[in-house]
Amino acid sequence: MNNKIEFLENPIISQMSSMGHDQILFCSDNETGLKAIIAIHDTTLGPALGGTRMWRYNNELEALNDVLRLSRGMTYKNAISNLALGGGKAVIIGDSKTMKSEALFRRFGKFVDSLAGNYITAEDVGISPSDMVWVSKETNHVVGLPGKSGDPSPVTAYGTYMGMKACTKLKYGSDDLNGKKILVQGVGHVGEYLVEYLSKEGAEIFISDIHQDTLSRISKEYGATQVDLKDMYDLDMDIYAPCALGGTLNDETITRLRCQIVAGAANNQLKDEDIHGRALLDKEILYAPDFAVNAGGVINCFSEVEGLSSDWALQKAQDIYHTIYDIVQRSQNEKIPAHLIAMKMAEEKINAVHKPL
Ligand code: NAD
Repeated sequence: MNNKIEFLENPIISQMSSMGHDQILFCSDNETGLKAIIAIHDTTLGPALGGTRMWRYNNELEALNDVLRLSRGMTYKNAISNLALGGGKAVIIGDSKTMKSEALFRRFGKFVDSLAGNYITAEDVGISPSDMVWVSKETNHVVGLPGKSGDPSPVTAYGTYMGMKACTKLKYGSDDLNGKKILVQGVGHVGEYLVEYLSKEGAEIFISDIHQDTLSRISKEYGATQVDLKDMYDLDMDIYAPCALGGTLNDETITRLRCQIVAGAANNQLKDEDIHGRALLDKEILYAPDFAVNAGGVINCFSEVEGLSSDWALQKAQDIYHTIYDIVQRSQNEKIPAHLIAMKMAEEKINAVHKPL
């Protein structure tokens, strides 16, 4: 008789282990309709900090993949920015326009609180400061509240602008953006502040967005040229700044891109990390890795955790210039995609404290 019991692997635990996650909390509450996932990737450098996203995912697996990738990104982002924070993220599955209620966010706050400070939350896509006020009724482990560090977008935009200048210095020998043709894709919270910086420096600005009223307002206010969504990747430009959603650097768009630099605030810009970072390098396009260039937002959150001033946050976001300069210069010298250099630099900072990722 064969007494051998087959060992069945749980695919989620296998995925956690291959991506290096510490913990996942699945949250469900029938009364409020809450379905959420909180992922803690790594807490070597400090408590895991990362926002909560509310999104209409097509299915629960898509939500899980998103939270796993985003939380790992936060570990890299916080480490490369020299913040005493680990990486985490949360997603609430649902429509942010119809499903919000105080009860739902308070229930979510209780789940956050059950992690006893290992995870600190903040706003992300689909979440407003007032939602976080409800969360804060159940837990102290929340930042980005009104009257505290506030909207992180201006600091994110400033850091992105700094990273863009660093790439410009490497490509053109000067970091002056005057006269440079720059496309900002997505002129929402971050995109608009970025346009403001670029316009002050005399850049020739192009904008695209899915909302015509936003486009019209911003083009009028800053003298920016509107570009049709279907034409934007073919534009003859110096810099492409993705500031909408992720995955815009893919097989189709990279073939079409005619720019010298990609530097923008969107998360997860490379559709496939194994392919598209290399494709940009092969096309001699300088790439400012998303998690390093858009770290201004988390720097702003960190200032709230530590009770530091908004001036401190802006000063710290200025350092993104040097971080991006180092990453991209190494990428060029070593012929290694910039995001891999950035990940290695972040891992070195974590390993110096603890264990390999
Ligand atoms: P937002 O929702 O305010 O703005 C996004 C804009 O992109 C909107 O105006 C939207 O209409 C537009 N958009 C959506 N799909 C588009 C498409 N296909 N083509 C063109 N435009 C499109 O979001 P935000 O806070 O400005 O964040 C922008 C990006 O930066 C997101 O990926 C976010 O995760 C990332 N990010 C934001 C922060 C922050 O501080 N807000 C920090 C780090 C990273």
